[in-house]
Amino acid sequence: MRKPTTTKIFILGAGASRASDSSMPVMRDFFQGLESCGDQFKVLSEFLKTHFEFVPGLPAMPNIETVFCYLENRLEAIGHDSEKYAVLLQVRAQLTNFISRRLRYGEERSKLPQLQRLVEVANHRSFVTFNWDVLLEEALEPHGSYYFARQHFVLSGGRGWELGEDVTKGFLLKLHGSINWYTCLQPNCPNRGRTLRHGNASYEPTRWDIDDLGRGCDVCGQDLERALVPPIAGKRGRMPVGVLRQWTLAREALEKADEWVIIGYSMPQLDMEAESLFRACRKSSTGETPSVLIVDLDPEPVRDRFHTFLGASAEIKTMRSLDEYLEAEEGRAQQ
Ligand SMILES: [Zn+2]
Repeated sequence: MRKPTTTKIFILGAGASRASDSSMPVMRDFFQGLESCGDQFKVLSEFLKTHFEFVPGLPAMPNIETVFCYLENRLEAIGHDSEKYAVLLQVRAQLTNFISRRLRYGEERSKLPQLQRLVEVANHRSFVTFNWDVLLEEALEPHGSYYFARQHFVLSGGRGWELGEDVTKGFLLKLHGSINWYTCLQPNCPNRGRTLRHGNASYEPTRWDIDDLGRGCDVCGQDLERALVPPIAGKRGRMPVGVLRQWTLAREALEKADEWVIIGYSMPQLDMEAESLFRACRKSSTGETPSVLIVDLDPEPVRDRFHTFLGASAEIKTMRSLDEYLEAEEGRAQQ
């Protein structure tokens, strides 16, 4: 018998942020407009031309996921002391700046009212998100002190249980990093991998300049890099420490929750880390399989994939839109 009160956790993917159906990481037109940005993205543009036969303006452009994965793999393979490494870091800085710019000023802001309703429905429960953007942060702003203090604590080295609190409440866990998180990637810096958030007190969207952090690494003085992780297999080795902690806590939170609400997350085949996370959490801490609700425009393929992790008998429900879910939950709250 399932307990009448459930411990829910919300898992968000690109579909939760995007107004359109296309999920951000595989968007074919991601690099559209790159050339018109002047010299700001010159090194990135050269990299795309050399490695992806990128021709500005043509419809067949490399997708962001492929480019980011390829770049990270090269950074991992190449010697830290070589000149090429420094150039690749420059490419990475420009790529992540471009990602940040696209996400910050993109169409996804039209999803904000829905996310604000979701935040109210969530009632301080934890979120696990695969999104790089900060739209959820914006929606969480009214409850900022509740979520952002914990996030800062985790990023700066603390763990959930040190707060003496239930990790299923009040945590915003970003498994692929965030466009407002930074890290030092200099090979020999003792500060390497430590993750910082722009604006320590809260999310501070208005004071946050995306292209100019205005400070370098506290230890080596070099430019900081955005702490973003591409959705690929075997990426754990290059994850900044602060991002790794997100995975540790997400695992704990998923194990404790007896209901997973999965919104706009397509569970990409190549994301082995995500797959093993869900597999590892298929039994809750009480030994039960969590019940799952998939909210997605096209929920069946996602449901089928989760059945392969959770077993054929797992309880997996589906809904086709976030509005439908919100209306049901808001109606329940009024009763
Ligand atoms: Zn450093």
